[in-house]
Amino acid sequence: MLNLIFFGTPGAGKGTQAEIIAAERSLFHLSSGSILRQEIESGELGPEIKHYLDSGTLVPDSLITTMMENAITKNISGNGFIFDGYPRSISQAEALYKFFENNNLHLNAVINIEISEDEAKKRILLRGKTSGRSDDNPEVIAQRFKTYHEQTKPLLDYYQELGKIININGEPDIETVATNINQTIEEIKKPLQ
Ligand code: ADP
Repeated sequence: MLNLIFFGTPGAGKGTQAEIIAAERSLFHLSSGSILRQEIESGELGPEIKHYLDSGTLVPDSLITTMMENAITKNISGNGFIFDGYPRSISQAEALYKFFENNNLHLNAVINIEISEDEAKKRILLRGKTSGRSDDNPEVIAQRFKTYHEQTKPLLDYYQELGKIININGEPDIETVATNINQTIEEIKKPLQ
């Protein structure tokens, strides 16, 4: 089994890369944003969740943690997971750590996709033209970055202490970034073989 967290600012390309790598390696792509947007479409918690997404703040830890744990449990017999957008706070990371321990799962690495904030904002605005996402507009984007700096960025130190961080330059084109991620995955798989 291979379990990876894809980490980065909004717009860094986590989702794009997670989709590619998950398909290539038959991993399960677990995107917290997609799960939340599905719940907004058809779930009973939709209106409450939409309020957080549209303000660029995090939905409560307990809520997203429950949703993610249910999704992991459903797919636990597969080849592994790519987490995209979760964890996003220290409390979420601690919950995931406990869940992994209780379920005998191992976190292999945190792939930290690095890109400048200017480039990230450009990409989100471009995506906003076609994504139909109500949070891809300048006001909400600014709040999403604020939330990232205050609540999510501290996870870099948390995972650094656990020796899990692998930095990847997210600025090149999609294919190059995917190739570079795949290379690092081969490296971390070596001691497993
Ligand atoms: P991006 O990372 O590009 O901002 P996402 O689709 O990952 O986009 O997230 C969109 C929104 O969903 C976030 O701004 C937040 O409101 C909510 N969200 C996603 N993941 C989490 C999480 N792990 N905890 C709390 N809220 C989350």
